[in-house]
Formats: sequence, structure tokens, C-alpha cells
Amino acid sequence: MPADPDVLVVGGGVAGLFCAYHLRRRGLGVTVVERGPIGGPQSCSAGNTGFVGTHGAAPLAQSALRVPPHPDGAAGRWLRHFRAAGDDRTAQAAFRVLVELKKRSLAVLRELAAGGLAGSVTEPGMLLLYRTAAGFDAAARTVPAAVASGVPLRRLEPGELAALEPGVDFAVHGGLVNPEGAAVHVPGFVIGLARLLAGAGVEIHPDTEVLDFAVAGDRVREVRTSRGRFRPAQTVLAAGAWTAAQARLLGVGIELQPVKGYSVTVRAPARAPRRPVLLGEDTVALLPLADRLRAAGGLQLAGFDPGVDGGEVDRLLGAVHAFLPGLGSTPTVEVWSGFRPCTPDSVPLLGRPGAYRNVTLACGYGHIGMGLAPAAGEVAARVVTGEATAAELAPFHPDRFGPDRSLGPVGPVSELAPGNRR
Ligand SMILES: Cc1cc2nc3c(=O)[nH]c(=O)nc-3n(C[C@H](O)[C@H](O)[C@H](O)COP(=O)(O)OP(=O)(O)OC[C@H]3O[C@@H](n4cnc5c(N)ncnc54)[C@H](O)[C@@H]3O)c2cc1C
Repeated sequence: MPADPDVLVVGGGVAGLFCAYHLRRRGLGVTVVERGPIGGPQSCSAGNTGFVGTHGAAPLAQSALRVPPHPDGAAGRWLRHFRAAGDDRTAQAAFRVLVELKKRSLAVLRELAAGGLAGSVTEPGMLLLYRTAAGFDAAARTVPAAVASGVPLRRLEPGELAALEPGVDFAVHGGLVNPEGAAVHVPGFVIGLARLLAGAGVEIHPDTEVLDFAVAGDRVREVRTSRGRFRPAQTVLAAGAWTAAQARLLGVGIELQPVKGYSVTVRAPARAPRRPVLLGEDTVALLPLADRLRAAGGLQLAGFDPGVDGGEVDRLLGAVHAFLPGLGSTPTVEVWSGFRPCTPDSVPLLGRPGAYRNVTLACGYGHIGMGLAPAAGEVAARVVTGEATAAELAPFHPDRFGPDRSLGPVGPVSELAPGNRR
């Protein structure tokens, strides 16, 4: 194994791969380590609906989240920040940051598609449908603010739904359309991106788990993995929802929680929609994937519980059939659950953790990581190279929620032995 790349990226999901993409474009030697297969089900980037483009930038703090009755210390603290981030002013500020990142990401995705990358972005537009008058009216009220932020959302004209999706039987009161709605093929896109990177000279090591770090002063000197040691000049932590555990090994607390969701993939029924659809009141996303159809949803703060909740799966399928009563049943191909890496305000953490001078965080992409990673990866790469300005990084600052007091004072650590770590 090459022991000393310029940059070691921990995590081979969409966040890590886009960091590697932008770092390699800057001429750096990059190695990615991923504890499972690239595009494997352990990764949140594997089973989602791949919605990208300008849709979906509203922060989660204004959505319905299922929470446990007695959230523990870290989850409880996160939840307090989450509730504070639901205030209109904070949410609007986050929305503006996220829309901007999503627009820049779409430009990167278009570039990759033009270069012929497998599974790349398609832009058939996106439908947002509502079964009830109340649901539709509430959604329609958001249109002016969305348009003002550069999201080209508009009401569907009478007859437009039937013209866009001929032969599909919808039971809806009304809907909106975002002509810029776009999607990538998941997980084909992630696997294709890893191949592209390997072809460009990025070393990618699947089935390689980071176990520990050796630290001297304010620098990580060595990264210990299940397959050997690396001595990178710089390390990027892009391990999705597990980045909090990585940061903890370094004595740094970050506000990041796993928010669990589900997807169910079935063989495509004959009368399925041809473009991405959001089933509004149920916040279920539908993505056509060639001969398959995927439905995804669910927002649950419950730690890393890998169990599949049959009730959530039934709820997903129930929503699909309520909106599309003529769909008919087809065999289920896959039931998947994944952990969205969520910050309280839905804005990623991009920057240096604690006082470390050669570590960069690239995590917290939450419910829209496929649509944020292409641009967020560039911000992270600019942190690594020292190009990023303080103003550019301000919204993404890992310390913006205040210090994690459960960790005690965090600062430069010298030769931190594993036993000293909290
Ligand atoms: C149901 C559902 C639907 C979604 N739909 C959409 C959507 O339509 N559009 C959208 O933009 N986003 C969507 N998302 C969100 C999106 O999936 C995530 O934001 C994104 O995948 C996060 O990417 P990531 O690379 O940060 O994390 P991950 O994809 O989880 O990647 C992190 C990787 O780090 C690895 N790792 C962890 N610890 C270690 C270690 N110690 N050593 C080595 N490797 C390690 C993990 O194995 C993992 O592969 C959805 C999420 C869910 C759950």
C-alpha cells in the first residue's frame, strides 16, 4: 500500500469521492479508504433516490422528525440545536446556502455527464404532487420564495400532468413542477465516479476501515486502518454519519447525528412515472431507475439501529399506491435503510476540526448529499490547499453550535495515546 499520499480521504460515499475528485484536479496525490465496497449498502450514498438540482434545499429542521422519547446526551443536545434551527430566519439563511451549493453542484454534474460518466445526471424535471387541497395550498405558498432564490418552481397547468406522464393514473389534487429537477442513478453514479477517479490516478481501497489515528501536536501523523498504516500529509474525514466517531478519536466533538431513512425498490410497474416525483404530504420520493422504481422516505433519529421497521416500509408503499392507484404490484427487489449524516441546521460541516492543521471535515450533507457533494467537495478541497477564505467557510464552520462540553477542553493534543482519548 502507498503509505504517504498527499491526502487521505476517509469514506468512499459521495462526499469522499467528490473531495477526491476536486483534490485530484488540483494535482494532489489522493487515496480513498472505504470500510465496505464502493456503492455498497453500508453507505448512505447507495440506496437513496438521487434527486439533485435545485429541489430539496429546505432544511430538515422544518420537517417532521421521529425522535425517541428520551434522546441521550449527544442526541438530546443535537435536538435542541435542531429545534432552534427551525426558526424562520435561521432556516431561510440555511436555505440560501444550500440552494447556492446545489446550483454549483448541478454545474459539476453536467460537466461529468458531458464527459460520459455512467449513471450521470438526467434532467427530466421534477413533479411535486399533493393529494389534498390543504397540502397543495401550503406548497403553492412556498413558490414565490423559491423563485426568488432561483428555484424555477411553478404550478402545473390544467392538463399538464397528463401530458407529461401519459397513461399514469394519479390521484392528486394538484401539483408543482421544477423544470430543473434532475436525478442521478444510484448507486450506478457512485460506482462510475469511483472508476473515473481510479482512471485519473486516485488510489481507492475498499474494505479498509480506519481504526485509529496517531497525533503529534496539532497534526495527524498516521492513520491506522484494518489493512495497514498511512502517513498522509493531510486527512479528510468524509465518513458520512460515522464522521462524529472519527472526530471523537481526535478528541473533537461535532454536532452530527444519523437520521435513518428507508427505500424500497420494485420491478418497474407498467404505468409508472418516467420522471422523479415527490409525493408531497407523505414526503416520499419516487425515482424511476430503468427497469426499477424506487420509493424513499422516513426521518428517524434513533442512533445507528440497522433494523428495518416494517411499519415504515408499509407507509412508503401505502403512500405510493395512494398517489398512484393504478400502479399494480410488482416484486420487491430491495429494501434498504440508510443513515443520513445530519447537522442540526442541514448545512454541511466543512473546515478544520478543533485546532488540527492537517485535518479537514467534509460531512453533514444530510438529506441532500447527492445534490450537495459535487460543490461541497470543492470547498473541502480548497480547505486542504489553503485556498478557502474565512468568509467562504463561515456558514460551514464546524464550531458554529459551540463547543461540545462533554469532551472537555479540546485543543492541540500531543502524542495522544488511545487510552487518553474520550
Ligand atoms: C432514504 C434516503 C433518501 C435519500 N434521498 C436523497 C436524494 O434523493 N437526494 C440527495 O441528494 N440525497 C438523498 N439522501 C441523502 C444522501 O444519501 C446522503 O446525504 C449522502 O449519501 C451522504 O453521503 P456521505 O458520503 O456523506 O455518506 P455515506 O454515503 O454514508 O458515506 C460515508 C462512507 O464512510 C464509510 N466509513 C464510515 N466509517 C469508516 C471508517 N472508519 N473507515 C472507512 N470508511 C468508513 C462508510 O462505510 C460509508 O460508505 C437520502 C438519504 C436517505 C437515507
